[in-house]
Amino acid sequence: MTRTLVLSDIHANKDALDAVIADAGDAERIWCLGDIVGYGPEPGACIAWVREHCASVLSGNHDYAAFDLSVVRDFNPSAALAAEWTRAQLTDDEVAYLRSLPSLVAADGVTLAHASPADPIWTYILSVVDARDAFGAFPGALCLVGHTHVAACYADVAGLTVRIPIANDAPYPVADGRFIVNPGSVGQPRDHDPDAAYLWYDDEAQTVEWRRVAYDIAAVQEKILRAGLPDRLAARLALGQ
Ligand code: ZN
Repeated sequence: MTRTLVLSDIHANKDALDAVIADAGDAERIWCLGDIVGYGPEPGACIAWVREHCASVLSGNHDYAAFDLSVVRDFNPSAALAAEWTRAQLTDDEVAYLRSLPSLVAADGVTLAHASPADPIWTYILSVVDARDAFGAFPGALCLVGHTHVAACYADVAGLTVRIPIANDAPYPVADGRFIVNPGSVGQPRDHDPDAAYLWYDDEAQTVEWRRVAYDIAAVQEKILRAGLPDRLAARLALGQ
């Protein structure tokens, strides 16, 4: 039996990451679904932690931008500025590490993708239509994705894709059927709840459990402004969007 801690979209927010680790306690295994960096003020510290502790780590679009800045033309202006700032902070070794990461892996029968198994780095699964396409793109019963910064669960019920309303702090069974599960974002939630989001996956009980934890948002906002990153990136943390 393994209880796996699933983290996604840390986005260089070490304070949020520290709060999640403290709240979660001991994990037998940790998976990171990508976007370790981008937007936030502490990319190097977040890379170091993920590198040391996570059994599987994916590349997200913001990690990708750290070694190929040409993709930021598709980013919004503040994200593009943050990507350029992030690249300037990272060592060559950190950039090489990000470049080495896969964007899609199979881990113990579970498919892990940053964005979608259909398009692992760039596609957003924001609707049942997006999820229906994604269900056709992975084998097995469970796929874990991040990228949207919105905790979510989609099920494939006899060929019909449905969105399941989620509740925090209660195990949800994923034994029967096929599921796409998003833990939400550690470092920049966008579901109007500013608390850091994470997920437990229990492969014996076949359950997932969404969790939220408060952290010192004002401290991170201060770091963002002091780094010269766009004000908007500080403001949105308090709004959860
Ligand atoms: Zn992200």
